[in-house]
Amino acid sequence: MEFWYTEEWTENVRFSIKVDKQLFSEQSDFQRVDVFESEEYGKFLTLDGLMMVTYKDEFIYHDMIVHTPMATNMNIKNVLVIGGGDGGTVRELTRYPQIENIDMVEIDKMVVDASRKFIDICACKLDDKRVNLYYEDGVAFVKNSKDKTYDLIIVDSTDPIGPGEGLFSVDFYNDCYRVLSDDGILVNQNESPYFDFNAKEMKRAYEKINNLFPIAKVYQAHIPTYPSGHWLFGFASKKYDPIKDQNREKWESLELKTKYYNSDIHVGAFMLPQYVKDMLNEK
Ligand code: SAM
Repeated sequence: MEFWYTEEWTENVRFSIKVDKQLFSEQSDFQRVDVFESEEYGKFLTLDGLMMVTYKDEFIYHDMIVHTPMATNMNIKNVLVIGGGDGGTVRELTRYPQIENIDMVEIDKMVVDASRKFIDICACKLDDKRVNLYYEDGVAFVKNSKDKTYDLIIVDSTDPIGPGEGLFSVDFYNDCYRVLSDDGILVNQNESPYFDFNAKEMKRAYEKINNLFPIAKVYQAHIPTYPSGHWLFGFASKKYDPIKDQNREKWESLELKTKYYNSDIHVGAFMLPQYVKDMLNEK
C-alpha cells in the first residue's frame, strides 16, 4: 500500500509527497512533530502537518535567511536566532569566523531532539562552542533582553498560528528593535505572497516592521516544498540597505561555497514581481 504525506495549502489545494517510512511522530506541549523518509525529498520534518525542512531543499531557505544579512554587514558578531529548532540557520551562521556568539531560542525542545536524531544535515552544528541553546518562548526572551545586545536577529519561525503567533506581533518587533545594536539587522521568514492566507500575514508583518525600522524590505526565494513554492523574507535595519551596502567582495573572499545564495541572487532576490510590490504599496 502506498503512503503519502499530504499538506493542505488551502481549502482547495493540497501538496503530497510519497513516503517510504515514518521515522518519528509525537505530540509535544506545543505541536505535533513528525519526521518522514521519502525518495524524492529525502528525510523531512513537519510540525502540525506543515513542512519545515526537507533534505532536498532546506539549503535554499537557510542560505537566504543567513547569507543575505551576513553579506550586508560583515562585522556581525552577536546573533540571536528565534525558533530554528532544526538547526539549519545555526549551521550556516557557524561558517562565519567573525561571529562570536549565537543564542538560539526555541520554544520546543522536542523539535531540537528530533532534528539531532533524524535531521542531522541541519542539526550538525548545534554543538558549536559559540552556540547557546535556550528552550523558551522567543517573545519573552526578547522582552527580557538588554538594549542593543545583538547585531543580527533571525526569526526562523513557524507560521503566525499556534506558538509562532507572538513572533508576528508589534510588541515583539518593538522589542527586536530595542535589543538590536545601532547597525543591527532583523531578518524574518515572511510567508508567501501567493495564497490569500499567507499573503495577508506577509503584508501585515511587513507593515508592522516598516512602521518601526527606517529600512524595511522584502526579498524572495523559490522553495519548492513551501505553499506555492514562492517564499518571502523580511529584511529590516536601522542603518544598512541590503543592496547599497552589500559587501560583495568581502563576502566572496570568504569562499563559502553556497548552493543557492550568491552575490547576484542577493540583489535579484529584492527585485519583486509587480503583484507583490502592489501588495506592499511599493513603487
Ligand atoms: N524553516 C521553517 C519554516 O519556515 O517552515 C521554520 C523552521 S523552525 C523548525 C521553526 C521553529 O520555530 C519551530 O521549531 C517552532 O517550535 C519554533 N517556534 C515557534 N514559535 C516559537 C516561539 N514563540 N519561540 C521560540 N520558538 C518558536
